[in-house]
Amino acid sequence: MSDKKTLVIASGNKGKIREIAKMLPEYNVCGCAELGFTEDIVEDGATFSENAFIKANTVAKALNLPALADDSGLVVDALDGAPGIYSARYAGDGDDEHNNDLLLKNLQGKSDRSAKFVCAMVFCTPSGKRVDAYGETLGEILTERQGVNGFGYDPIFYSHDLKKSMGIATDEEKNSISHRGRALREIIAKIKELDDESL
Ligand code: IMP
Repeated sequence: MSDKKTLVIASGNKGKIREIAKMLPEYNVCGCAELGFTEDIVEDGATFSENAFIKANTVAKALNLPALADDSGLVVDALDGAPGIYSARYAGDGDDEHNNDLLLKNLQGKSDRSAKFVCAMVFCTPSGKRVDAYGETLGEILTERQGVNGFGYDPIFYSHDLKKSMGIATDEEKNSISHRGRALREIIAKIKELDDESL
C-alpha cells in the first residue's frame, strides 16, 4: 500500500483534479467522489475565495480528511468582469461549448479582448485550520477556438505567457503558468509550514 498522504480535492471536475494531481506527485490526490462524497455543494459565496472555502470546509468535515478546493473562472475586461464567479454556468447549462459560444458572441465587435483566469484556492483541515492562496494568468479571448486541450474556456484563451492558445498547450505548459498552478504552488509552500499531523 502507498505510504503517501491522501489529499482530497473538493471538486467533481476531472480536468482540475488531473492538473492538481500532476503537480502534487508526493500526495495521493483524489477527487471527493472517489471517497464517496457526491453531494452538490451550494456555492453561494460572493467571491471566488468564499466559494473555495465553502467547498474545502464542507468536504474536510464530511470526510474527516484535509481537503483542497479552488474556485476559478474567467474575467473579461470588456464585459465588466463577466463571466467571473459564474464562469461554469455562463450559458445556463454548464456546457463548455455553449459557454464558449456565448462568450464569443458577447465579444463580437469589441476591440478590447483582454481577459484573465483567476483562481482562489483554500485548504482546510478537519480540525479547522485554513490556508488561502491566489493565482492569475493574463491573456486575450481569441475570435475562434484553437485546439482541444484542457477544459472550459481553454480553446478560446490566448495566453500571454505561452504565446499560444491554452487549447493547444500541453498540461505541463499550462500548469507552469496557469492561475491554478500559481495558486497551488503558493498554497503548497504554506501547507508545508503548517504543523498538522493529518498532513
Ligand atoms: P468552478 O468549478 O466553480 O471553479 O468553475 C470554474 C469554471 O471556470 C470552469 O467550469 C470553467 O468554465 C472556467 N475555468 C476555470 N479554470 C479554467 C481553466 O483552467 N481553463 C478553462 N476554463 C477554466
